[in-house]
Order: sequence, then C-alpha cells, then structure tokens
Amino acid sequence: MSKFVVKHVAVLGAGVMGAQIAAHLANAGVPVTLFDLAAAEGDRNGIVKKALAGLKKLEPAPLAGAARIALITPANYDDHLDQLRSCDLVIEAIAERMDWKTALYERIAPHVAPGAIIASNTSGLSIDALANALPESLRDRFCGIHFFNPPRYMRLVEIIATSHTQASVLDQLETWLTSTLGKGVIRALDTPNFVANRIGVFSILAAMHHTARLGLAFDEVDALTGPKIGRPKSATYRTADVVGLDTLAHVVGTMEKNLPDDPWHRYFSLPAWLSALISKGALGQKTGAGVYRKQ
Ligand code: NAD
Repeated sequence: MSKFVVKHVAVLGAGVMGAQIAAHLANAGVPVTLFDLAAAEGDRNGIVKKALAGLKKLEPAPLAGAARIALITPANYDDHLDQLRSCDLVIEAIAERMDWKTALYERIAPHVAPGAIIASNTSGLSIDALANALPESLRDRFCGIHFFNPPRYMRLVEIIATSHTQASVLDQLETWLTSTLGKGVIRALDTPNFVANRIGVFSILAAMHHTARLGLAFDEVDALTGPKIGRPKSATYRTADVVGLDTLAHVVGTMEKNLPDDPWHRYFSLPAWLSALISKGALGQKTGAGVYRKQ
C-alpha cells in the first residue's frame, strides 16, 4: 500500500463538528483550510471566524495556542475553491441534508486535486447516494469518515465504503487516523446511521419516550443515564443539546425514512416539545438555548 501523506486538509463546514475537527487536526500539527458559506455582510469569511472564536467558549477550549490557530485558514466557497487544489484530504461536515451535501459536491468537484480523498462526516445518510453526486473520476476516492462529538475526546471514527470506493482509500485513511490522531477506527457498512449512531440515537429516543411515560424531569433522566451507566459526562438531554437539536432531528429522520418496518419504529419520533424548540431556533449549545436553556 502506498503511503498516504496528508499535508493539508480542507474541512467543509465550520459548524459544531467542522470547527472542532479543524481544531483537532491543527492540534495534531495538520494545516487546515476551513470553509463555510460566504457571510452575507462584512468579512466574507465571517462565518468561519465566528465559529473559531466560539471554540474558545468550550471547556476546555479545543484549540491550543496561537501557533495552532495559525494552522487554520478561514475560507468560503465563493472566493476560495481554488485552494482545494492543495488539499490531499477533503472532509465534508455541512448540515445533515442530502440535497445540500450533493449540491456542494457538484460545486467542489472541479477543484479537487487528482488523488485527493473526499470523505463525508455524515451521521448516517447513505454514502452511496452521496457518491452519486460526484463525477465518476472522483467516486472511487470517496467514503464516509464519521467522527464523534466532541472529536478531541471521542476515539471512535467510523469509516464507510461505497460500492465504488477503492480498498486502498480505506486502508490509507485508517492508517492516517490511527497514527496521526490516535483514533480507534471501525469499518461500518453503509446502513442508516451506521453502527454507533444507530444504537445511540435509539437509546436517546427511548429515554425521551420513557421520560414522558414515567413523568420524569430532564435532569433526573440525565442523572440516570450519565456517569451512573458509564458515560463520562453527558447524558440524554445534555447530549442532545451538545449534538444540536436540528442535527438530532435529521438523524432521527434518517431512521424514520429508511427503516419503516423496524420493530422499534414506534420510538422513531421526536417529542413535540423538542420539535417546537427547533422551530423557534433553540438548537442547543450552538445557539445558546435548547433543552436546558430556554430562549
Ligand atoms: P451544524 O449545524 O453545527 O453546522 C452545519 C454547517 O453547515 C454550518 O456551518 C452551515 O453554515 C453549513 N451549511 C448550512 N447549509 C449549507 C449549505 N446549503 N451548503 C453548505 N454549507 C451549509 O452541523 P454539525 O453538527 O457540525 O454537523 C455537520 C455534519 O456532521 C452533519 O452531517 C452531522 O450529521 C454530522 N455529525 C454531527 C455530530 C454532532 O454531534 N453534531 C456528530 C457527528 C457527525
């Protein structure tokens, strides 16, 4: 197997995951260009810069020191797509919407360097369906790369092949993730929400369902489903706020849509109060309001 040398990574999306993945890479000494949409007003890289500033509010801050911060270059899709040419690895981490992801792939494809690996951090959308948005020439170097939140602490990364992915691409990624980032990699099949999220989302939804059934308070459920059962810190409702309630809803939607005959289907719906929070824009930690801090 030829050695996969990652000199520069492009991360697409400076949201909860993209910004933290960029920080995690910078802390490992890997230069990153972090892209997001061009801001409507002011500095066109403003969305990325705001996201990077927001990392400082996380405890402990995921980005260690000015030298590390300098390894992240803010960019936007309107002005800087030519910078993709110098990236050996492109990690897409935009919102969990098939239509938005595929539209972006069509846009970036002409700028991706020959030989680069492209990977999606989707929580559970079909990797095969995402691959279809790429030209055939790039499809065999595309796969899923599913980091967990927060990426600086969570060792697990799932990597997922499509029917087109070259075996060497997964081998190269696995070696790089293990040696550079110290990750524990598993190879998941391209099934809805892959492995860990299929279990994790089910357990969150079941806990929410039983909260209502038993008339429990959110913090009582979090006390029961946190450290007491071996989770280091976060639990059901805190996890939902950290993940982002909109992202959780998209991931639940993937199960609703793709697993209509699953015996656990009755759990695959969000409580109405949670959908109401999403409608109000209270999306959890990223908006400063969610299950715990109401607007
Ligand atoms: P987020 O909502 O925090 O950020 C999404 C980003 O996408 C934003 O920066 C936004 O500007 C950008 N965006 C929105 N619409 C866009 C468009 N049409 N084109 C291009 N960019 C657009 O989301 P997130 O939580 O960082 O999730 C990103 C991806 O990572 C999703 O696929 C999600 O399922 C996955 N993921 C999330 C978590 C988690 O805990 N939040 C964990 C693992 C994987």
